[in-house]
Amino acid sequence: MRVADWDAIIVGAGPAGSALACRLGTQRRVLLLERAALRVHGGRVAHGVRGDASPSSDAEVSPVIVAPFAGATSSLPTASPFLPRIGESLPGAARVLLQRFGLLERFLAAGHVERGATVSHWDDGEPVWFDHLRDPSGPGWHLDRNRFDADLREAAIAAGAVLVDGCGPWHATHADGVWQIERQATAQIHRAPVLVDATGRNAAIARQLGIPRRVDDELICLHAYLPPCADDEDDCTRVCADRNGWWYSVRVPSGQRVLAFHLDADDAELHALRSLPNLLAKARQQVVLADVLPVTLDVDVVVHARPAGSAMLDFVALARTASGFFAIGDAGLSFDPIASQGMFHALASAESAAKVIAATDIGTDAAEVRAAFLAEQSAVSAHYRRRLQGTYSGPSRYRGHRFWAMRRAAESGTESGVAASA
Ligand SMILES: Cc1cc2nc3c(=O)[nH]c(=O)nc-3n(C[C@H](O)[C@H](O)[C@H](O)COP(=O)(O)OP(=O)(O)OC[C@H]3O[C@@H](n4cnc5c(N)ncnc54)[C@H](O)[C@@H]3O)c2cc1C
Repeated sequence: MRVADWDAIIVGAGPAGSALACRLGTQRRVLLLERAALRVHGGRVAHGVRGDASPSSDAEVSPVIVAPFAGATSSLPTASPFLPRIGESLPGAARVLLQRFGLLERFLAAGHVERGATVSHWDDGEPVWFDHLRDPSGPGWHLDRNRFDADLREAAIAAGAVLVDGCGPWHATHADGVWQIERQATAQIHRAPVLVDATGRNAAIARQLGIPRRVDDELICLHAYLPPCADDEDDCTRVCADRNGWWYSVRVPSGQRVLAFHLDADDAELHALRSLPNLLAKARQQVVLADVLPVTLDVDVVVHARPAGSAMLDFVALARTASGFFAIGDAGLSFDPIASQGMFHALASAESAAKVIAATDIGTDAAEVRAAFLAEQSAVSAHYRRRLQGTYSGPSRYRGHRFWAMRRAAESGTESGVAASA
């Protein structure tokens, strides 16, 4: 086995991992490992290293095969890393973080669309309009999500990180005071004092290390990308509660409309709603959705299903893990999409990790540094849970229905659990 030494290894080149690589790559030897190939955006092709990689590698840097945004016609299985990425609203508060990562100019030129108003039929009574223009941080954006991820990856490479995509299977261990990633495919061992899990809900390193992940809510998101329609000029985010779950719909920069329904994994209706006509028929019963949805579609559109509930790593077990290990973004804390907080958290937790990793350069103890990071993440989690509890207690018209009753009960239990472990 050949050995390569790095200052930091980051696994997962989603928003969290790429943002951290941007921050660390200018001053450190950073390896960024990603299982999925880069995708095309705006006619350009992002580059990564395939196969071999070392800090001084002269390995061929080759254009990587790109899969166009699968969107409306994808028939890939749910677990595929090539699923269209969901998570397309970014709050205005992210502007400061994008600036810190040196990405703001590129971001503003990338064709993401400023958010319009939100209309929600959540609490009882009439639908409510909220205009984001009144938000002191600005309205935020609807993202071209694939472009956003690809731009972040390119920025990480430009900052000096070595990106290996299509990285294949790997195994993580800690031995003799360093973290090691063994890649069977290339017979290589990568070593570093810092190892970061940025693999999203997969939490792949944490799982290998045996760190428990608590899934609070087996929420499933069914979502479909409806093809652009000339009559659809609506630029609002539409959210509403239903008897057994909740909906959102928005037009994304490509012109496609995302339609998403969130329900329990064991809901008897789940299977039927994986057929688009059934999903559309149910959605059209909602006043805030009926006017913007087509009655029928004459093209095949896949309804994807993916887990979407709150989940978090066990912070007590994390604190006991050898120092130098961090979990950022969804890998550490996954939010219910109703919070619309995941993308911001991905960037913010990357920034926090970058700061504490930099603190070790000026002699701060590595264990102390990690404790500070975990304390911050615990505070984020506690705040989120309080807000989520308030959100799910809103639609009292569905109080007697299982979806809502279970969440109210679970959230009050979770609240005391968080307090006990804090
Ligand atoms: C239905 C739904 C709707 C959402 N809507 C919103 C929204 O409107 N606004 C918002 O802010 N957030 C939203 N989110 C959340 C948001 O999408 C996530 O919080 C965000 O993508 C997290 O970024 P990340 O980098 O942590 O993880 P990810 O984006 O999941 O990236 C993880 C990366 O790691 C890679 N990876 C995984 N396993 C491995 C492995 N074994 N080896 C190597 N690489 C690996 C993946 O290929 C991927 O590139 C939504 C989420 C869901 C489920």
